[in-house]
Amino acid sequence: MTKEKPTGSEVKIRVSGLSNGLHEYHFSAEPSVIGLEPNFRSPVEIDVRLDKITRQMFLRTVIHTSGQFQCDRCLDEFNQRLSTEYSMFYTYDEIDATKYPEDEVTILQPDQVFIDATEDVRQMVMLAVPLKLLCREACKGLCPHCGANWNSAACKCEEETIDPRWESLQGLIDN
Ligand SMILES: [Zn+2]
Ligand SMILES: [Zn+2]
Repeated sequence: MTKEKPTGSEVKIRVSGLSNGLHEYHFSAEPSVIGLEPNFRSPVEIDVRLDKITRQMFLRTVIHTSGQFQCDRCLDEFNQRLSTEYSMFYTYDEIDATKYPEDEVTILQPDQVFIDATEDVRQMVMLAVPLKLLCREACKGLCPHCGANWNSAACKCEEETIDPRWESLQGLIDN
């Protein structure tokens, strides 16, 4: 087993001349280098386990980072931690590629020096962003009438607003 901390900031692993066996790598990459938007501000931490046998490699990657997002309900900015992982099978022989789903296989060129997982990491981070972004599970959101943020204080709108359906019923009773 080898442990290596590459100096380059991209997620690149030298594969030419790599011995068979288990190799572990850690990358700490600036979000801009990965190609992430500026709302990602903390480094993307990437742990890679690469298992190599002759002419094939199996890569398992765990990714941790965080991003700044706007809450769907109260529109406040908040920090969301993101963790994700993925696997990729690398092979020099196209025939072996058919054993795996298309998006989990990469064919290597015979003279390939590096594998570059930068784009895969970027895509996985983007997929890890939840569809519904909430600053907290119980976010109360904004008042639709006055725009007050119900997380910080209640407003008086509810007391003042009379449901129009109730108003017309009230009219029937009065008559
Ligand atoms: Zn919120
Ligand atoms: Zn209100």
